[in-house]
Amino acid sequence: MSGQLLLSLDLPKTDQPDLTDFDRVVIGNSGGKDSQRMLGYVADLAAAAGVLDRVVVVHNDLGVTDTGRPVEWPGTRTLARLQSEAYGLRFEVVHREINGLYQQARQERHAFPSSSARWCTSDQKTSQAMKLVTRLVAEAGVTGRPARVLYCLGLRAEESPARARKAAVAVDGRSNSVRTITRWHPIHQMTEAEVWEGIHASGVPYHPAYGWGMSRLSCSLCVLSSWDDLVLAARLRPALVRDYLTLEREFAEQPNQKLAAIANFRSDFSMADVAAAARNAGPLGFACPRPDCTPVPIIDDVHDPFDPPPCPAHPGEFRTRLAAA
Ligand code: SF4
Ligand SMILES: [Zn+2]
Repeated sequence: MSGQLLLSLDLPKTDQPDLTDFDRVVIGNSGGKDSQRMLGYVADLAAAAGVLDRVVVVHNDLGVTDTGRPVEWPGTRTLARLQSEAYGLRFEVVHREINGLYQQARQERHAFPSSSARWCTSDQKTSQAMKLVTRLVAEAGVTGRPARVLYCLGLRAEESPARARKAAVAVDGRSNSVRTITRWHPIHQMTEAEVWEGIHASGVPYHPAYGWGMSRLSCSLCVLSSWDDLVLAARLRPALVRDYLTLEREFAEQPNQKLAAIANFRSDFSMADVAAAARNAGPLGFACPRPDCTPVPIIDDVHDPFDPPPCPAHPGEFRTRLAAA
């Protein structure tokens, strides 16, 4: 999450807060591997401390495009709920009331978000989660002192120099007279290998998009993703790409020249570039688990792994196997 003011006062003395010190423990779960590992880690600590009932998992729903395609990977919300339920935790979904990410770009910003303008994170995620924190604080009914909230995020030092510089524990600038929010990055020091080790040991489901070759989950077409991830995502979600191409064209044709000049999905390449690379790489398809079953090209972005379409050739089987089409 970006743009958070961190106060240097009142920092806990260790990198691992005592969960019993807090009235509510909020865990942000995007459905991605780091969130998932953190969820398991904090849930185990909370169970050991006897405070599971104070823990709330929050998932940010970023919405759908104007043709109804989720900007996150299909099934992410279902997965985030299943993961929370696996640990017996309360699960809440929050979303921006007015516009999801796609509509915010199209109707309000007239531009894609970027690493230097991450309104997608601040407006779609952080602000919405903070509304939930406000609600949870009211619910906690603490009197005579500010309610204490521990807010957990799955950032890791290994991901980037900027993330490495972040403190594992810090008092969040959104603290006020009714609440003290302590921000905690429980898996800050974990390696990617350790994250996967924990996930496999837990037996809790993770998103199949990792198995399809994605290195990160996030939005399917995240402005911060690597080129390889974007091309693969474009092969897996051609209908979503078409919706992003619509935006790119509209942004380029708008009368505001300043915004038209930054119409591309990214400053270093466009969504049209990604779409062309995906076309060159060839179509992908899903088939039922039978090795002899022909994959059906992915043309309409309907491969929700938690609600897979049935195989027309083999009743009783579902199209879950990814293969070149
Ligand atoms: S996943 Fe990427 S595009 Fe989506 S909200 Fe996060 S930073 Fe923005
Ligand atoms: Zn089949």
